[in-house]
Amino acid sequence: MYMKRILLFLVVTGLFSACGQRQLVETELPGPVPDDSISFTPPQNLILLIGDGMGIAQITAGMYMNGNKLNLERCRYTGLHIPCSTDNLVTDSAAGATAFACGIKTYNGAIGVDPSQKPVPNIVEQVSAMGMPTGLVVTSTITHATPAAFYAHQPHRDMYEAIAADLAKSDIDFFVGGGTVDFVGRQDGRDLIGEMRNNGFFLTDSATVSFDKVEIPFDKKFGYFSSPNSPVKVSEGRNYLPLATKKAIQYLKHNGDKKGFFLMVEGSQIDWGGHANDSDYIVSEMLDFDKAVGAALDFAEKDGNTLVIITADHETGGYSILAGSRMGKIRPGFTTDSHTASLVPVFAYGPGQELFAGVYENTAIYHKMVRVLNLNNKVQP
Ligand code: MG
Ligand code: ZN
Repeated sequence: MYMKRILLFLVVTGLFSACGQRQLVETELPGPVPDDSISFTPPQNLILLIGDGMGIAQITAGMYMNGNKLNLERCRYTGLHIPCSTDNLVTDSAAGATAFACGIKTYNGAIGVDPSQKPVPNIVEQVSAMGMPTGLVVTSTITHATPAAFYAHQPHRDMYEAIAADLAKSDIDFFVGGGTVDFVGRQDGRDLIGEMRNNGFFLTDSATVSFDKVEIPFDKKFGYFSSPNSPVKVSEGRNYLPLATKKAIQYLKHNGDKKGFFLMVEGSQIDWGGHANDSDYIVSEMLDFDKAVGAALDFAEKDGNTLVIITADHETGGYSILAGSRMGKIRPGFTTDSHTASLVPVFAYGPGQELFAGVYENTAIYHKMVRVLNLNNKVQP
């Protein structure tokens, strides 16, 4: 028993010292191996919803400002992940999303590359090779760090034009997000919109048609630019996230009827509310994201063959709910206008959900998704 404790201590201290340093071996470990004794029928479809900057307090504030309820509560399995990157206990969205998409720890700012800047395959590439259609729906630009890690491989998150060019040649079948500016009027003179249309994409934007009026052609790849730059706040009239989540599921279900599909949805601006130390901004974005969660859970409940995972990359703002708060009226506190290193909640619903209970590295989310979809054992078509 005593020896066991010493061993545990050594393992735990080893883990934590590794988190702050870029070159350490721990970064190559996939995180705790999922419990092989858990058995389940692998789901066909996987929906990963990321609330950027969504810590426990953001979720709690959303709940207290929404009549004490959230769709998130419909999940029966919860866990916590350790979000640190290789060069910082406090991760950023690039390293955070790369951990989910590629299963590796890397440095802050990295998009789909390891600490030596070598590209690492991501889950979208892996499921696409199995014939599964894939989609991304976000409330930032589509080239922003979180979605970028699911299709791009670039040494830094600020390389938006290179990231856009990676999207044009990626396996993504359906996307909704802002950022037309990275696709046209580029430094290199390329017209990525034209190139993507030539490659079978149906592309349109918010200047042409509002999202709720778009006729989505199921037989083509689909992209909708919700803004030339960053989409506005939900409190300023943005309203597409829950509907786009629903439409993405319809599109992907139609095209992935036999093989299943992968969808990533991001509530991008919960983080921006945290950076702005603006509690109302956090709560409104949290509740918008929770509607998208509701759309995913509605589908998963009926379908029975879909795993929904909801998590965040990190917490933002050191946000807290102070004394004097009451139901429907939060008294907020902040300790920073940046990210924090706190453990991050994970919620799961559907076949394989049991794997997401416990405490594990952020990279384990990727390895659990691979296991749930049985990707290592599937034969490419
Ligand atoms: Mg983000
Ligand atoms: Zn941030």
